[in-house]
Amino acid sequence: MLIAGNWKMFKGPEEAADFCRGLREADIGTVDVVVCPPYVSLAAAVQTLSMTEIGVFGQSCHWEETGAFTGEVSAPMLRELGVYGTLVGHSERRQLFGETDETVVLRTNAALARGLQVIACVGETASEREAGQTEAVLRRQVGAIAAGVAETDDLILAYEPVWAIGTGKTATPEMAQEAHAICKSVLDVPVLYGGSVKPDNAAELSSQPDVDGALVGGASLDVESFATICREASHS
Ligand code: PEP
Repeated sequence: MLIAGNWKMFKGPEEAADFCRGLREADIGTVDVVVCPPYVSLAAAVQTLSMTEIGVFGQSCHWEETGAFTGEVSAPMLRELGVYGTLVGHSERRQLFGETDETVVLRTNAALARGLQVIACVGETASEREAGQTEAVLRRQVGAIAAGVAETDDLILAYEPVWAIGTGKTATPEMAQEAHAICKSVLDVPVLYGGSVKPDNAAELSSQPDVDGALVGGASLDVESFATICREASHS
């Protein structure tokens, strides 16, 4: 069971170090835990969490190692900082920054080749769900990863229905289970659920048989709330 906190564009280095000091002292149960700070706060998080079991992940990484790619960072750069893995293909990247199934595969392969773990995100929009296309969208998104990435133990998927991200609308445990089963039928790797996971729904969501953890956005920004989610998931 893995609980990952996606900080998005929150917490500069000072706030990140404060949070990580708090997390070190918190009761996070028995789950594996990672945090995904913005790039500028990665070093502070790695330093503050050194000598702990809590990992630090980036939020994306480019497929080239160096080059004229303003605003991007590469897998070797993340490794140099002591970062353990990275998110790839978050729906905000897909929707706001032109990420596609093809670039998700490129980024995933570059990260894996450099020894980073990858949490690759997939999920349908509200209109796709309403149109009955959830399964087709998941098969397309996960299928692209299955076709383009060699088998590895370092790959994790996150099923994040776009309509549930930051909206307070959570998929029911049954909806999450159904979607996770579809993802796993295409690519047999652990699948995290993401989309308005909170302390009061973490236990039920993570108790579903094909839910292997959670990717948490808003509720990961507060130590007590994030630690409570970790403890709740530990009971599953
Ligand atoms: C996310 O950013 O991946 C996410 C799931 O956000 P939230 O938990 O705020 O919905």
